[in-house]
Amino acid sequence: MLKLSGEALAGERGFGIDPPVVDRLTDEIVEVHATGVELGLVVGGGNIVRGTTASEGGMDRVAADYMGMLSTVINGLALQDLLERKGLDTRLMSAIRLDEVAEPYIRRRAERHLEKGRVVLFAGGTGNPYFSTDTAAVLRAIEIGAEAVLKATSVDGIYSADPHLDPDAEFLERISYLDVLRRDLRVMDATAISMCRENDLPIVVFNIHQHGAVRGILAGESVGSTVAAS
Ligand code: UDP
Repeated sequence: MLKLSGEALAGERGFGIDPPVVDRLTDEIVEVHATGVELGLVVGGGNIVRGTTASEGGMDRVAADYMGMLSTVINGLALQDLLERKGLDTRLMSAIRLDEVAEPYIRRRAERHLEKGRVVLFAGGTGNPYFSTDTAAVLRAIEIGAEAVLKATSVDGIYSADPHLDPDAEFLERISYLDVLRRDLRVMDATAISMCRENDLPIVVFNIHQHGAVRGILAGESVGSTVAAS
């Protein structure tokens, strides 16, 4: 299960969708799919609406979160369009009913799509306010029996502090779920990390701007940082 944040689609712009960036990301997805792996994608929405930010501006949190969830559908449609133009067979599934644009999420149907070699894009987050798309990625990964969650970020992996701010930040190649929580490393929100821990689902955090990173991870190369039981 590959988790792509909205930020990854916005590139340097920081907002909306940057077509050359999405073009490169989808090339990478096409290459990964060609290896024969069953691939699910969970897309974020922070490049359009982030619930917490909107509610800090005075908006009702639940309404803001639904706007965030709808943002993930917009991103999903953009990714789907480009992936299909590049020859992949895809299905966009939404946790929120939007019958004209996406299939409703049904686990068995998602599994069938994956078996048939379709790339499944999971949009709409978990379908519930107060959650994140990281939690959605973990939830869907557990439901469909994924081997790992690959979390795309703009840094090489997990550091002891933010490497953009602290030059002494130490790179952590492997770390336990508990240490991520104890040290408040913000790899994913605590709900997502706890779910991974309870279900023994490894998380690999890697730099999406590093070409070939996903293929490397799948080939067992040491790419990024791994969060696992110990
Ligand atoms: N969201 C939500 N429930 C979910 C997933 C997402 O309410 O299950 C909302 C929430 O407001 C969040 C926004 O959708 O801020 C966008 O998702 P997220 O911030 O996880 O996106 P990312 O940071 O990955 O771009």
